[in-house]
Amino acid sequence: MGLGLDLILLGPPGAGKGTQAKKLVEKYGIPQVSTGDILRDAVKNNTALGIEAKAHMNRGALVPDEVVIGIVKERLKRGDCSKGYVLDGFPRTIAQADALFSYLNECGCPINGVIDIRVSKGYLVKRLSGRRVCRSCGFGYHIEFSPSKGNGRCDNCGGELFQRDDDREEVVTKRLDTYEAQTAPLIDYYEKSGLLKTVNGVGDVEVIFNDICKIVDGR
Ligand code: ADP
Ligand code: ADP
Ligand code: ZN
Repeated sequence: MGLGLDLILLGPPGAGKGTQAKKLVEKYGIPQVSTGDILRDAVKNNTALGIEAKAHMNRGALVPDEVVIGIVKERLKRGDCSKGYVLDGFPRTIAQADALFSYLNECGCPINGVIDIRVSKGYLVKRLSGRRVCRSCGFGYHIEFSPSKGNGRCDNCGGELFQRDDDREEVVTKRLDTYEAQTAPLIDYYEKSGLLKTVNGVGDVEVIFNDICKIVDGR
């Protein structure tokens, strides 16, 4: 890691973190580090990590801190993070944020911005239950707000679109409660450290991205 563009995207499930992270990847050439994607990959491959994680994920609960902290430390060591990265879905607890802080402090490359994508709760259930994801390239769609053009296939790669197990409505409600209890306190945490910036996450994806870029470029 060096003097890179080291960003965190904060926000509730469905805020648009993944959508915006992919646009940052494209524009700034830094990788998206999504703990959710890493965990889903482990579940798909039936690894020991995946088997442990799946039970938590399908209940709408968080995977234990030690587990995700370990994953992120390993990921950030890889060469592609040397010019920066966008953390999507991590940290999600104060303990994770503290661990990240200590880890980055040791290598002298602190986080330079935390962007909270604000979306009020009323929008989130609909966003999550309508979300569809490409099985091949991971691109995200919404059945109503950003449908794929061709009959249930990905516009980028033609891959099959699927609904995540935890995007079923029963689990969605639990995930939103988990967010309120364990992740929302990070807004205050990063406000106090002077790193927090906020964007309105309701409206056109491009407008929101433009707001994010203004923050990134003016940092
Ligand atoms: P979303 O993008 O909808 O917020 P994610 O893909 O980030 O969802 O996460 C899916 C699930 O993976 C979470 O509900 C949780 O079980 C697990 N997970 C992802 N990131 C973390 C994390 N930083 N700490 C603990 N659990 C996590
Ligand atoms: P997160 O990673 O924060 O859970 P996603 O980026 O996966 O959120 O977005 C959740 C769902 O909402 C997806 O189906 C996505 O297509 C849709 N979405 C993202 N941004 C917007 C927006 N600005 N307006 C409407 N729908 C959106
Ligand atoms: Zn695809």
